[in-house]
Amino acid sequence: MADRRGLLIILSSPSGAGKSTLARRLMQWDDGLEFSISATTRAPRPGEAHGREYYFLTEEAFKQQVTDGQMLEHAHVFGNFYGSPVAPVRDSITSGRDVLFDVDWQGDLQIRNSDLGKHALSIFILPPSIPELRRRLESRGQDSADVISKRMLKSWDEISHWGYYDYVLVNDDLDATEEKLKTIISAERMRRIQQPALQEHVRKLQMEFEEQS
Ligand code: ADP
Ligand code: 5GP
Repeated sequence: MADRRGLLIILSSPSGAGKSTLARRLMQWDDGLEFSISATTRAPRPGEAHGREYYFLTEEAFKQQVTDGQMLEHAHVFGNFYGSPVAPVRDSITSGRDVLFDVDWQGDLQIRNSDLGKHALSIFILPPSIPELRRRLESRGQDSADVISKRMLKSWDEISHWGYYDYVLVNDDLDATEEKLKTIISAERMRRIQQPALQEHVRKLQMEFEEQS
């Protein structure tokens, strides 16, 4: 068994607040981090590749995977299904690698209520303001005006769940938010439950203690 257990690091935010950008930066920071590649029934955006950003599935294939118990969590978001395959998560955390999830509040709730929930660390990213959120969605240049309006309408629904997360950051300055995320993750890796090897270490300390007394 690895010395430490991996964390399930959940990043949520209204669309456009910056969680994908932050997730990318975290992946560059630590190559021991694994990104949980979700399955989705939505169409790929320009530049997105199957198996890199998402596994793009038909609705039928998606529902079959859910029925077969292959999803740690799944949800219906913006008219499409999204879900996190469970097998790679179990592999990663038992071998001591953290897994980063970009999921909505429904995914957060299901992961925290799952058998892996005790290893979850949930972080919510808030935008500095609603006009700035719209500006970021528009500047990303990936979605039509119609899709942007749909995402803006949904943003309050997402923001209203902020109180269920372990940590909440306002993503004003990108570099500062990135630093805060790194600090949180570094500290959470030292949670007692994340360090199964401590049991053995303390047993050894006890033996040494008894030998010298
Ligand atoms: P999300 O994944 O939450 O939908 P993105 O990470 O795609 O959001 O970010 C949306 C847009 O906002 C992108 O163009 C990104 O470069 C930009 N952005 C992210 N964080 C900041 C920030 N702190 N300040 C300014 N722009 C940002
Ligand atoms: P997008 O279509 O912009 O990539 O993602 C739309 C929303 O779906 C985002 O809020 C994102 O966090 C969420 N999402 C992406 N993958 C998953 C997933 O596997 N599960 C859940 N519950 N939400 C997801």
